[in-house]
Amino acid sequence: MSDNCIFCKIAAKGIPAKVIFEDDDLLAFLDLEPQAPFHALVIPKKHIVNLDDASEADGVLLGKILLKCAAIAKEQGLEGYRVVTNNNEIAGQSVFHIHFHILGGRRMTWPPG
Ligand code: AMP
Repeated sequence: MSDNCIFCKIAAKGIPAKVIFEDDDLLAFLDLEPQAPFHALVIPKKHIVNLDDASEADGVLLGKILLKCAAIAKEQGLEGYRVVTNNNEIAGQSVFHIHFHILGGRRMTWPPG
């Protein structure tokens, strides 16, 4: 756990969130400011800043996150969905604990802008 990390606090139940999945390694919860009819975040409980901060040893954990994104999308009955992880402020990262957005329930445009 990293001090002053909002997602570490959510994982430790110090801040409430609408949790939709939890196991020993991962937490998934609904985004506070949804950008699509379905918008959830999947995070590792381990504090990793972003992909730049991940190491070879995190490979299995990251794979588990992606597979969980697919499982949640299937559970939600999403016809199609987008999985996004923003890396660094210039790319739109505002919370510096790695998280994967699952966005669905509407047609997505490309490029995202
Ligand atoms: P990013 O801009 O990629 O770092 O995404 C951070 C996301 O976290 C944004 O979509 C926020 O709406 C979301 N967010 C921030 N604080 C919370 C919170 N307490 N509970 C749920 N989602 C949050």
